Amino acid sequence: MRFLGRRGAATTERVTCGCCERDLPRSAVHELGGTQGVFLCRRCAVWVAARIGRA
Ligand SMILES: [Zn+2]
Repeated sequence: MRFLGRRGAATTERVTCGCCERDLPRSAVHELGGTQGVFLCRRCAVWVAARIGRA
């Protein structure tokens, strides 16, 4: 899991999932609260939520 590596910039149209690193439309990802510039796609968000729920 890598949360570093913001590539590209400025454009809000496509963003990179901070988990699986796929480029996705902005509307298909969620920005992590408290961590600006880090986005998770829906699949990874569910995975993270499940993980947090078990911790
Ligand atoms: Zn992802």
